[in-house]
Amino acid sequence: MGPSIGTALRLSALATLYLLAAPVYLVRAIGEWRRIARGLAIVRRGTIACPHCSFVNPINVLSTCHRCGVTEFGSRLYCSNCRQVTRWFDCARCHATVKVF
Ligand SMILES: [Zn+2]
Ligand SMILES: [Zn+2]
Repeated sequence: MGPSIGTALRLSALATLYLLAAPVYLVRAIGEWRRIARGLAIVRRGTIACPHCSFVNPINVLSTCHRCGVTEFGSRLYCSNCRQVTRWFDCARCHATVKVF
């Protein structure tokens, strides 16, 4: 067996490994995409019901950024100052964490 055949075999083994792993990555990517699509739908709707007390929280309120501390009116999930995207916030009634993304 020459060195080039050995390399080819190693490469094909690697390719097979990637092919086998591809569905896993695909499923993960779809899951990620679904999560983002769900979050975007909530942002479009402008409200999200708390899963704990079912209080309907508006998305566009006066909120303080978790990162830079800027307080502004607008989407509580996005800071226009530091472009921080927040994935969650506290429910206005029961203060439990409501996850959006
Ligand atoms: Zn910020
Ligand atoms: Zn709540």
